[in-house]
Amino acid sequence: MQTGSGRDDAGHGEGGGGPPPPSGTGTAAGSRPRARSTRAPEPPAADTERLEKHPLVWLETNTCHGNILSLMNGQHPDFEAIMRELLDVYWTNTLMGAKGHQAIEVLEKVMVERPGDYILVVEGTVPTAAGGRYAHIGLRGNGEPWTAWDAVVELAAAAKHVVAVGSCAAWGLPFGAHPNPTGSKPVSAVVDRTVINVPGCPAHPDWILGTLAHLIWYGVPELDAMNRPVVFYGETIHNLCQRRHYFESGIFAGEIGEPWCLYKIGCKGPVTYADCPSRQWCGEHMNWPVGANTPCIGCTSPEFLEHTAPFFEHLPDVRLPGVRVTADRVGAATGLAAALGIGLHLTGKLLTGRLQKEWGKGLRKAGKALRRKRK
Ligand code: SF4
Repeated sequence: MQTGSGRDDAGHGEGGGGPPPPSGTGTAAGSRPRARSTRAPEPPAADTERLEKHPLVWLETNTCHGNILSLMNGQHPDFEAIMRELLDVYWTNTLMGAKGHQAIEVLEKVMVERPGDYILVVEGTVPTAAGGRYAHIGLRGNGEPWTAWDAVVELAAAAKHVVAVGSCAAWGLPFGAHPNPTGSKPVSAVVDRTVINVPGCPAHPDWILGTLAHLIWYGVPELDAMNRPVVFYGETIHNLCQRRHYFESGIFAGEIGEPWCLYKIGCKGPVTYADCPSRQWCGEHMNWPVGANTPCIGCTSPEFLEHTAPFFEHLPDVRLPGVRVTADRVGAATGLAAALGIGLHLTGKLLTGRLQKEWGKGLRKAGKALRRKRK
């Protein structure tokens, strides 16, 4: 939770040259499955006006600050180059140097000096209980505490684009999980305009930089029904996974660390949209959770974390027309046909919006059963 006054802006106000292309793409491994297009946008040629540094406010509310830390791991281009050449950052609590009223003045000024021009990035949920007093970003000029709630609403109203980075800002979880004493909400619930969601816990640096670069150079990218950029969230983890052939052959790991499909030990890849298998993580795009033999925990999903836990319990049984299929049965007789059936069935359910409800119900049951077992 962010309390107390902020500190001043970092690297604000310098002119910049042309930014390098944020390639930010996946690995070069030819055999790995890839999303249909995983490339982050490249700068337009011969359009120098659009290559000027762009004003940005990165506001941290109820957050662990994991997304700004993830952004600092960006390698292509590296974070320093982005700060030097692409973004004119007015405010980022984690990185800026000054404190108190000097910092707050900058934040108040951006709404007056650059209305309709700056991008507002929000990291974290917005607490709304007790008038929003669970998160203050500092004291305003009149000495009154400036709640994160008011700051998000005011800054969003004057921004050119609003981007919710991380699953907290995009979906309101996990800070908003039951019983949610702070009344935490996602950004889209407190502002009356389109919010572009870049979920993840944290979001991959390429997803953040790619979205910002697209907004600056080309405008709003193609979004899905949940306002996520399709270029990064257009496929399920499962569809891109290197272990998909094990799923289809019914070969499942029984324990963490085994090199087969991790569905039975909790992998949420079939219902999670992101390009982790092809993009990969760790700076130079080196690996991802399933590649390191641990299940996908569904961190980009709207259900994360409240309904994707327990992490090591598999998805509830999936009902197919006329037959009830479990991971065990997929692994035994039904094999490929059932796996494909599950895929089609899941897709159908996602399209009709029923999956979220049923999946949540199933996971709650699984959680209760596990708790009973532990007693
Ligand atoms: S269930 Fe998980 S490990 Fe198995 S194929 Fe799908 S994404 Fe990969």
